[in-house]
Order: sequence, then C-alpha cells, then structure tokens
Amino acid sequence: MDIPENARAVLETLETAGHEAWCVGGCVRDALLDGGRLPGRTPEDWDVTTSALPEETLALFGPRGSPTGLKHGTVTVKTPGGPVEVTTYRVDGAYLNHRRPESVTFTRSIEEDLGRRDFTVNAMALNLRGELRDPFGGRGDLERGILRCVGDPDRRFQEDALRILRGLRFSAVLGLEIEKGTAEAVRRNREGLRDIAPERIQVEFFKLLPGKRAAEVLRGWPEVFGVFWPELLAMVGFDQRNRHHCHDVWEHTLHALDAVPGDLVLRCTMLLHDVGKPACFTLDEAGVGHFYGHPAVSRALADGMLRRLRCAAGFRETVVRLVEWHDRDIPRTDKSIRRALRILGEEDLRRLILVKRADNLGQAPAFRDRQRELDRAEEILDRLLAEDTCFSLRQLAVNGRDLLALGLSGPAVGAALEALLEKVVDGALPNKREALLEALKKDTERV
Ligand code: ATP
Ligand code: MG
Repeated sequence: MDIPENARAVLETLETAGHEAWCVGGCVRDALLDGGRLPGRTPEDWDVTTSALPEETLALFGPRGSPTGLKHGTVTVKTPGGPVEVTTYRVDGAYLNHRRPESVTFTRSIEEDLGRRDFTVNAMALNLRGELRDPFGGRGDLERGILRCVGDPDRRFQEDALRILRGLRFSAVLGLEIEKGTAEAVRRNREGLRDIAPERIQVEFFKLLPGKRAAEVLRGWPEVFGVFWPELLAMVGFDQRNRHHCHDVWEHTLHALDAVPGDLVLRCTMLLHDVGKPACFTLDEAGVGHFYGHPAVSRALADGMLRRLRCAAGFRETVVRLVEWHDRDIPRTDKSIRRALRILGEEDLRRLILVKRADNLGQAPAFRDRQRELDRAEEILDRLLAEDTCFSLRQLAVNGRDLLALGLSGPAVGAALEALLEKVVDGALPNKREALLEALKKDTERV
C-alpha cells in the first residue's frame, strides 16, 4: 500500500517533531481495497490524524498550514500534491438530537480516535512504516465484504443519524453487505434522519446514487430514503396495469436507474422520472392503467424534492428538464433533432437519449425495441454535429451587430435573431450570411 508523496511528507514532518501521525479513514479503506477481492478505488484524499494539538501542527507547518476546522481540530496543510487535512486525535463530545457534536475533546490515543469513527472499515490507520492499526477488525470485514458499525449500532446511529445514510452509501459504492445487527439498527433508527441538515443528507445521498449497487440499496431500504423523500414511497408496489410494463412503478424505476451509467444527473433523473405516476393514475373501461400528464407532475414533484435537499439550481434545472422530457417522442428527423438541440444543447440531448434508453429497458421485454430508434437518433445527432449544423445563436451566420446595422435596436435585435435561428433550425433558411440578411431586409421592409 503506497502512501502518496504529499501525505508521506506531512507524516514525516509530524513524526520528526516527535508526534505520532497516521493516514486514517477512507484513504486507508480504499487503499486496502486495491488488490483485494473488491474492485479497488484510488483514494481521493489522504487524511492524516496526529497526536499533535492543532496549534502544534500549525506551528510546525508555518504558512503552509491553515486552521480550516480548528473547532474539530483540523488544520489543512498545503503541499505540492494538493492539500492534506491533519486532524488531532479526538473523541466527540455529547451528541444532541442525533447530530454531530459541536464540541470535541482531544486525546493522545489513536485507539480512542479510531473508536469514534462510524464503521470498522473506516476505523483503520496506517503509518509511514506500513503498520496498520485496526482495533475493530476493519480489514477482515473489508475482505469479507461486510459493513459493520464500530461498537453498538443503535447507539452509533442515535449519536449521529447521518451514519445510516453513510452506511447505505458505502454499501452502494463499495458493494459491501450490511451486517445483520447494523442492518436492523438502520431500520430501527431511520427516523433520526429527520434531525439531519438537508445539505448533509444531500452529500451522502448524492455519493450513493452513482454507486454500482445503488438500485439494489434503494430496493432494500425505501423506508430509509422515504424519511427525507416520502414521495418515493408512493411508487413502491404501485401496479401499472399496462402491458407495456412488467414491473410496478418502483421496480421499473430501479431497473431504469440501473440501466444508466453511474452519473449523478442521470441516476437522479431516473429515480425521479416517474415519481408523478401514482398521482396521475387512471383506469380505462378495459381495465388498462394510464398515467396521462405524469411527466409534468413528476417534474413538479422532483423540483420540490431537489429544493428540499438544497440542490444547486443548475443541477436541479437539468434534472427536472430531463424528467419533463423523458416521455416525449424520440426525434427521428434532422429537423426534430436540430430543434431538440436548440432547446437542450448537445450535452442534455445526449443525456435524454440515455434516459430514454434506460426507461425503455425497464419496460416489458416485448416493448424494448425502442433501442433501434434511439440508435438512429444518435446517428443523426452525430452526423449533424459533424456537419457543424447550426442550432444556437452562437453558430448563426449573422449576429447582433449585423442587425443593428440594419436599423434594429433594443429587444427587437434578440427577437429577430431568435426568429432567424428558428428558421435555420427548421431548414426554412440556409445558415448563410447573405441569405439571412436578405430575409431580414424583406421582413423589415414589410413592417
Ligand atoms: P470518501 O471516500 O467519500 O471521502 P470517507 O470514508 O473518507 O469517504 P469522509 O466523509 O471523508 O468519508 O470522512 C473521513 C472519515 O471520518 C471516515 O472514514 C470516518 O472514519 C470518519 N467519519 C466521517 N463522518 C463520520 C460520522 N458521521 N461519524 C463517525 N465517523 C465519521
Ligand atoms: Mg474522505
């Protein structure tokens, strides 16, 4: 297991000054996964834990250290290879309302520090000499693919309910099986998540969704996710009564979610694309179920759900637009692809194709033939982009200055540009400067 140079240098500086220093937590876990039976992950950041007090760490690193979380004993050290977080060994103060404590106490014992950590696989430390401190059997659990709380799971989840979601996150991302006692405590203590700030829920939930076993974890624990997103629960077991579907709404959702790549926008879109279905359900005389208008209702619900988790506006808007568009006809012509490009842009149109593929793959086998139509749409899209087809104002052969020169001003300029773009996108005009100016002149003469 190789500690990267930047973390190594920090450990050396601390040790040379007579302190103990270890890499700890996620980086040790991920490094152990490398070469293990589970697919390895390259640790993102290497956190360091030390017996040095924060002021001692600050004094050692001089201007390279900054007190980023002094209250919790954290100093961030700048290194050529990126920042390294150095935190003093600590035990947490009293927990209130299932939340992380405001105050902490420093300790001189690495074992005590490891004991406050959430899961055995996250409670290991590694030093410069390759010595592993693993008082709770994290390495064995990792080898057997098991996620287990450090200590009594009920107590640990009552202290900080976010650990419930972190546990499901590690299961989804690392493929760990949740040990029985821990699993039962997850179920018993889930209501504690109500006391957790939505921003913190968002962080863990959005790390979970791209996980390779996200669908499986969602399937196993809907009532946990239902604590912050109760809208999901209406989908569980909701019979669609329609031959297009062999699954209930929730199962269909999970199959569709599994069929998109592990990208947060796509996973979030699939999770929410049919969330409005239960509210839109109608049964016709033949006893067939319909969900007229469900994309708009899904969009509205999704918007509220994402706002509640305090998602960034740009992310939310992308997701809800894909949700709204998921059920539209697949564009089949140059013109309809250009129109879709104009509204969505290339990135979101490509996403929409993936969304529609996945949605179709989640339907009854007899109706999964939409894939060929989607291949076709993708071919047209690739060709149009290779031809540098015009679908945005930026690409239009005339610009605002040309229109000002023709005597237009104010909002009329923008409106005229949009009108020209629409004609070009629809194929009514070529994207040629002369032709566009000619058309404009005719228009202005008419006015
Ligand atoms: P990632 O790979 O996403 O960074 P991580 O395990 O490093 O995963 P962090 O949130 O970076 O997760 O936390 C670093 C370490 O701090 C964890 O490995 C764990 O030991 C400890 N930890 C973090 N959050 C909690 C918590 N809520 N309760 C107890 N220990 C925690
Ligand atoms: Mg980490």
